[in-house]
Amino acid sequence: MTTSCMFCKIANHESKADVVYRDDEVTAFRDIHPVAPTHILIVPNRHIESINEMKPEDQPLVGHMVFTAKQLAAQEGINEEGYRLIMNTGPHGGQTVFHMHLHLIGGQRMKHPMG
Ligand code: AMP
Ligand code: ZN
Repeated sequence: MTTSCMFCKIANHESKADVVYRDDEVTAFRDIHPVAPTHILIVPNRHIESINEMKPEDQPLVGHMVFTAKQLAAQEGINEEGYRLIMNTGPHGGQTVFHMHLHLIGGQRMKHPMG
C-alpha cells in the first residue's frame, strides 16, 4: 500500500469508485473519464507501479487481470463485437497513474492505434 496512491485507496476501500468486480487479487472499476461506452480499469490490489516493476512471480497476477477483463467484457455484453485491452507504461506509453492498470475499452468501433 502506497498511502498517496489513488488506486491503492480504491482497492483498500478508502476512496469511492464505481467498482464492478473485486476479489483478493484485483479490483475493477469504471474510469472517471470514459473514452467509450465501456471503460473499466482492472488493477492489482497490491501496489505495482507499472509493467516495468513486474517480478517473475507477478505473471499469474497479470494473467488474472486479463482473465478478469475477459469476464467483464462478457458481463458488459461487448465480448462478441470486441474490445481493446491497454496497459500504458511510462511517460512515452501515456501512463498518468503509476499503479499498474489494465484498460478494458469497448462498446464502439475504435480506430486502429497503429493508424
Ligand atoms: P493511464 O493514463 O493509462 O495511466 O490511465 C489512467 C486512467 O485512470 C485515466 O483514464 C483516468 O481517467 C483514470 N482515473 C484517474 N483517477 C481515477 C479515479 N479516481 N477513478 C477512476 N478512474 C480514474
Ligand atoms: Zn497503488
